[in-house]
Amino acid sequence: MPLDRSKIEEMLRPYLAAMEEEKGRTGLPLLRDEKSGDPLYFGQRELRLRYLIPVKSLKEFFDGLARGEVLYTRCENCGLKYFPPQPTCSRCGKGTAWLRISGEGELLTFTKVYSKPASFLHYDDYIVGVARFPEQVSVLALIKARDVTEIRMGARVRLVVERREPENYYTYALIPVEATEHTGQTLPED
Ligand SMILES: [Zn+2]
Repeated sequence: MPLDRSKIEEMLRPYLAAMEEEKGRTGLPLLRDEKSGDPLYFGQRELRLRYLIPVKSLKEFFDGLARGEVLYTRCENCGLKYFPPQPTCSRCGKGTAWLRISGEGELLTFTKVYSKPASFLHYDDYIVGVARFPEQVSVLALIKARDVTEIRMGARVRLVVERREPENYYTYALIPVEATEHTGQTLPED
């Protein structure tokens, strides 16, 4: 499925039209801040940003995803755990060890997102939640459920690694255990 840029364009159109109208009226690329009334310059060129972030110290995490595993780190000195993983402990500055999150977690909270950030506009409305796993790490992730009525606080969930579309890369999501029992979907073993 191609990335639906037309949706983004559609959302931006009224804002851009309003800006153009104001510019036509005043001859200046300036808007007024609604609260303060102060002038705001609106850029006439679009920027497309794409980041390259060095992740050498987190390569194990990505290798894990490619194997279908989600890894966290634990400080080898003080035992503090990190997810998303950190290569160095924020508390004592020592190195961390890589470990796998496995088994069933408990869903602590969840919500459905209707008003999405720009980089998620191409998704249908989605559900996100936080689950706590037996390793005592919490994971924030998308929940694979058709609707919030299918899930509840305290539900048992598993972490699954999937190749997400349309981005076409491996990432992790939470899936209610009850849903997997219904569909018979196979999941990575511990
Ligand atoms: Zn530490």
